Amino acid sequence: MLNEDTIAAISTPHGTGGIGIVRISGNKSFEIADKLFVGRKRFKDIKSHTVSFGKIINPYNEQILDEVLIIKMKKPNSFTREDVVEISCHGGIIVLKNILELILKMDARLAEPGEFTKRAFLNGRIDLSQAEAVIDLINSKTDESSRAALSQLEGKLSKKLREARSKLIELLAHIEVTVDYPEHDTEEITGKKINEELKLINNRLLSIINGFEKGRIIREGIDAVIIGRPNVGKSSLLNELSGKNRAIVTDIPGTTRDIIEEYVNINGIPVRIVDTAGIRQTEDVVEKIGVEKTHGAIESADLIIMMIDAKEGIAQEDLIILNKVKNKKIIAVINKIDLVDEDRIRQIEMSLPVQQLLKTSIKEDIGLNELGNAIFELFIKGEVSANNEILITNVRHKNLIDKAISSINDSLEALCRGMPLDLITIDIINAADYLGQITGESVREDVMHEIFSRFCLGK
Ligand code: GDP
Repeated sequence: MLNEDTIAAISTPHGTGGIGIVRISGNKSFEIADKLFVGRKRFKDIKSHTVSFGKIINPYNEQILDEVLIIKMKKPNSFTREDVVEISCHGGIIVLKNILELILKMDARLAEPGEFTKRAFLNGRIDLSQAEAVIDLINSKTDESSRAALSQLEGKLSKKLREARSKLIELLAHIEVTVDYPEHDTEEITGKKINEELKLINNRLLSIINGFEKGRIIREGIDAVIIGRPNVGKSSLLNELSGKNRAIVTDIPGTTRDIIEEYVNINGIPVRIVDTAGIRQTEDVVEKIGVEKTHGAIESADLIIMMIDAKEGIAQEDLIILNKVKNKKIIAVINKIDLVDEDRIRQIEMSLPVQQLLKTSIKEDIGLNELGNAIFELFIKGEVSANNEILITNVRHKNLIDKAISSINDSLEALCRGMPLDLITIDIINAADYLGQITGESVREDVMHEIFSRFCLGK
């Protein structure tokens, strides 16, 4: 599986910056650096894992491309476990491009997206779930999601899964011995032991799965939809939460014609909030499209924020909507409480068939923190501490663990029905195989390709 060719790419984002980095990895990387770097020492004589100052000079025409800092990392102590050179140059796109092109004229080719990380995986420095954590870390939207990715990168999930997998393999060995040499152990005794062991492994896998919902929320966030009649303050709420003046706020009912969305960080959870057009009956064509989109957004939402105008009270339309979304998580918000008295608010509260109820005045900044807290509580009960627990955040991982659990359940059932031991091995082998696909011990080429193609260039 070892890669013979040397790869190079610009590893910093496209655009202008203080510095930019070009990275080279592979057998030829030191040879290439030696041809184009001119410093106090020749590159080949520089010690590994040190930084040196010098110039990049095009050896074909002696043209100086930039003054740079160059880092030499001899294998296997590098990100890819290959010889790696990192050139930190001035961050202009032309400088970076010229240096990269020069390297590509020598004995290197342009790296594919994620190829550095793929090599780290293929060369055994990290496993597949850790490689996936690198993507998550790069893409994370809040501190919490980056912490969860970092813990996965450190290999906490991999360790648990590898333990479970080797337990399954131990069991397989045990079964084989019993079947082949029945004089050592009878099937009955072994069957009982296997039953206990399988249940133990299943429980461990279940406890990993249980954290998934929380992990998914921290990584991907939740989809919230704000609904309510025109003019109740939906756009104003979205603006307040996002701190930007994006949605158009007006006094004319029906002005939020289309769907407007923003990402908001609520106590570390990325929340995508969609402001809807409302779902009143309308003849206006443009508004009709908005209304249809609203229905779609409601269907796929994790949370519905239903706004009621304190002054207008609950309308028939509101009750119809509430009835439609009664199977979803709902927070009702009575807005514009600055316009009415306590009695009026209480009256509305009494007649709202919703458990979670908040009172706000966006105009006077009342109740908005409470709304944030309520959203957080509804999805993440208790403290979020991605530090101490293993959070699986990846749907691919969840599906494979689910499959492993169901294979183990099949083998437990077969045991229960008194099937011969060698027949239940098939399910145990399947379970071990599913777990191996997460860490990469038994992953298919196409799956691997799919995973790494999600990376950005130069990583
Ligand atoms: P939407 O149609 O539901 O998006 O409602 P908007 O956000 O456009 O708000 C309609 C009007 O209500 C605007 O003039 C807002 O300034 C006003 N408004 C929003 N929230 C409050 C509030 O809490 N109190 C008062 N008095 N007015 C509000």
